[in-house]
Amino acid sequence: MTSYDVVIIGGGVIGSSVAYHLKALAPQISVAVVERDPSYKTASSALSASSIRQQFSTPVNIAISRFGIDFLRQLPEVLAVEGEQPAIGLVEPGYLYLATPAGAAVLAENNAIQRAHGADIALLTPDQLAARFPWLATGDLALGALGLRDEGWFDGYGLLQAFRNKARSLGVVYMAQNVVALEHTAGRVSRVRLENGESLACGHAVNAAGPHAGKLAAMAGLDFPLLPERRCVFVFSCKDSLPDCPLLIDTSGVWFRPEGAYFIAGAPPRDGDTPEQHASLEVDYGLFEDVVWPALAERVPAFEAIKFVNAWAGHYDMNLFDHNAIIGRAPGFENFYLANGFSGHGMQQSPAAGRGVAELILFGGYHSLDLSELGPERLLRNQPIIEKNII
Ligand SMILES: Cc1cc2nc3c(=O)[nH]c(=O)nc-3n(C[C@H](O)[C@H](O)[C@H](O)COP(=O)(O)OP(=O)(O)OC[C@H]3O[C@@H](n4cnc5c(N)ncnc54)[C@H](O)[C@@H]3O)c2cc1C
Repeated sequence: MTSYDVVIIGGGVIGSSVAYHLKALAPQISVAVVERDPSYKTASSALSASSIRQQFSTPVNIAISRFGIDFLRQLPEVLAVEGEQPAIGLVEPGYLYLATPAGAAVLAENNAIQRAHGADIALLTPDQLAARFPWLATGDLALGALGLRDEGWFDGYGLLQAFRNKARSLGVVYMAQNVVALEHTAGRVSRVRLENGESLACGHAVNAAGPHAGKLAAMAGLDFPLLPERRCVFVFSCKDSLPDCPLLIDTSGVWFRPEGAYFIAGAPPRDGDTPEQHASLEVDYGLFEDVVWPALAERVPAFEAIKFVNAWAGHYDMNLFDHNAIIGRAPGFENFYLANGFSGHGMQQSPAAGRGVAELILFGGYHSLDLSELGPERLLRNQPIIEKNII
């Protein structure tokens, strides 16, 4: 076939979630996903830390995470193919945000918003933190916020494959091709051009190109501040065990969590990182030596004697405007949709984003969860969504 009702560009977790939700809601439509690298070697979805939290500071992100955790829990039944249930190893030990006296007021403010929107997050004093996590250094702390349920981590590659396999079982066609151009006139994308010289006619087109979404948007003449930003993840082992260890976000910005028998950790990139460094997937080993390990050892004395095991780098799909997803119909277009700029939250937001984009295409509006706040118009109006809890 060279003509589809919907052509999705990018078959990562977002594109595959959109594809699955479209066919689940409207089995009669034809859907193609164009994915240039079916091995997903450099896709964010394959290089993610794949964690889910309720501890955001904006109601829309909290609502998306509630939708996300419900979906992940039901996933084995919902995404089963021919009776075979996918496993994504969801565990829910929570997130623990730590604050010094300087950060305590913001943590408490965020907590009030989270609780008002149904998130079960406890505020803990340093004494309560020390009692609950005896392996933690609490001397400089004023407060901690611990998710009591609905927060944890899972196998992100497993989630991507579960969406993809289910979508294919429902009739979605995946093509291993590179999209090189979008033919568009008068606010309509009419054809998606492939590197092999062929092109696909489309009723609707979806930009799900992850960190490369800015380039894809530019093919439709749109200028959005969407760029890849490198994030390094370091794997280490520790001979002591840390009972009940959550995903911990330290006051330094360094984070860590258990991963099987090991731990993984990371930190925001250095201020001076160049665009070339962000575009690369080379690990910044110095970041571990200079920033991550010292912070780990200060927060958890047992981490003074850790063993470095491995590391990898992936790309955050950054929206430089306000670090929140851009979901909605592209300005000036009647049939081109954006699901981009998740800025490090795309795994947990993929169920709600996929469902939302499918509803927009099929019904012209949101039915399950109102995501209109995340629409691209906010960039044109210069009205950023201020999310304080960025990792
Ligand atoms: C180190 C790291 C840690 C993270 N931790 C978390 C976390 O804890 N929790 C969380 O929720 N999120 C996390 N994220 C973010 C999350 O992984 C991403 O937001 C999410 O994977 C984005 O999915 P995507 O489908 O949009 O992008 P991708 O997975 O990158 O998929 C996009 C696909 O589009 C394809 N493509 C691009 N351009 C074209 C083209 N022209 N033609 C054809 N195909 C094209 C690419 O090949 C790619 O496979 C993390 C990311 C990284 C890198």
